[in-house]
Amino acid sequence: MLPTVQDKFYINGQWVKPKGADIIEIISPVTEEVCGKVPAGTTADIDDAVAAARAAFDQGPWPRMTVEERGAILLKVADYMQEHGEMTVKLISLEMGGPIKRMAPAAPMPALMIRKYVELSREFPFVETRQGLLGPALVLREPVGVVASITPWNGPLHLLLMKFAPALVAGCTMVSKPSPEAPLDAYVLAAACEAAGMPPGVFNLVPGGREVGEHLVRHRGVDKVAFTGSTAAGRRIGEICGHDLRRVSLELGGKSAAVALSDADPAKLAPRVVHQGLAFNSGQACAALTRVVVPRARQQEFVDAIQAEMAKLVTGDPSDPVTDVGPMVAERQRARVESYIEAGRSQGARLIQGGGRPAGLNRGWFVEPTLFADVDNHMKIAAEEIFGPVGVVIPYDGDDETAIAIANDSDYGLGGAVFSEDPVRGIAAARRIRTGTIGYNTFYIDPMLPFGGFKASGIGRENSREGLTLFTEVKTLEGVTEEML
Ligand code: NAD
Repeated sequence: MLPTVQDKFYINGQWVKPKGADIIEIISPVTEEVCGKVPAGTTADIDDAVAAARAAFDQGPWPRMTVEERGAILLKVADYMQEHGEMTVKLISLEMGGPIKRMAPAAPMPALMIRKYVELSREFPFVETRQGLLGPALVLREPVGVVASITPWNGPLHLLLMKFAPALVAGCTMVSKPSPEAPLDAYVLAAACEAAGMPPGVFNLVPGGREVGEHLVRHRGVDKVAFTGSTAAGRRIGEICGHDLRRVSLELGGKSAAVALSDADPAKLAPRVVHQGLAFNSGQACAALTRVVVPRARQQEFVDAIQAEMAKLVTGDPSDPVTDVGPMVAERQRARVESYIEAGRSQGARLIQGGGRPAGLNRGWFVEPTLFADVDNHMKIAAEEIFGPVGVVIPYDGDDETAIAIANDSDYGLGGAVFSEDPVRGIAAARRIRTGTIGYNTFYIDPMLPFGGFKASGIGRENSREGLTLFTEVKTLEGVTEEML
């Protein structure tokens, strides 16, 4: 039995009753029926959670423990997550409709991520000796304080862990507000913290909607907001944090380009554009390669290769092990995707494949994997994030410079890839594209490589050493040398 019904929050190391009476019903994107329930957090619940995190940071042992002591507890959290890996994947698939075939291989990832951060924290320069012009100093990287984690539904646990693991190894405490669409998996992490004997108040969990999220963002007890979600919400959160001068990192939307130079191999590009692109997480992935920029003279060759790859995709029930593409997370999300498909048609893009609802799937918010060609980069389907299984092929005339200019002509800059048989040329083009992560003849999101956006895709880099840095404040302690410690 999956733990699909929760009636408490995790605050100050206790499972506590909600202060309000509202319930969040989690609707299965496959059956369109209620598949889980959690209490809806209120501002009063958030106040309690922040107070607990504040006390745990200001008076509790966590920030003052050694890296080894914190690491020992976090390794127990990792063990719990490993033991519950398969169950957690099923829970996430249930709440947001992700195909089990795609998600099961990622089951060990939460434990791996926590263990990697523990390893990283052992060699991270929390204390460094420096010689200034006027004297010696220690440069300290102290925990930033109480962190508010606000996460979306599309990769709920992984996106939370990208904040949880580095923040906690650094000595921060946290209040997590997962999305109302997919809050269940965060309960597994809270249970892991409890089982690991984490001190009270270090990790606190209160699910809720955007009003509750905004209350958390504005809270004077919060030192830093770590947000993943839409660019629209990110702008708003950035404004609030800018006003209050609260630290903030923003992981936002994208419209990433897969750029084929004139010598690119379609057999290398097509699988990436399908599996890390239009079908990546059923098209609901921030860094998906959804703009395919190809030489006009070879457009048909690339379209044929992508179509051949798309023909292998199975769309259907995400719990079926053969399914590659599941439903959209919500009815409104499907309506949004369909409105973009309509815009593509009406603005004159050539529909190559898909464009409708898959035959035989009468329940669930499914959309056919869809490909457009002859797309202009300024059309709505090329400029805006669709967040559904829709790819667009944009032909160009001219040389590598033209292709690079099209890739860069976007509000976003999150992911990308350059395809060329010449590594010197391909790498040179990749270096010219203004985006946080770019692959040469490949593309993947690696939880231990820096990840984040240029431009409207966000501020800051999560993952790896850069991700840990996000949860530290630099302090200069003058007049002190290492020998004095
Ligand atoms: P969303 O912005 O609507 O919501 C994300 C989270 O923020 C939810 O928990 C929501 O309740 C909360 N929220 C919304 N408005 C808020 C506000 N004003 N104050 C505080 N909290 C608020 O996004 P979504 O629809 O859940 O997720 C999809 C979006 O997330 C896409 O745009 C996608 O590109 C982006 N995303 C980005 C990354 C990345 O790492 N860059 C990863 C995954 C998803």
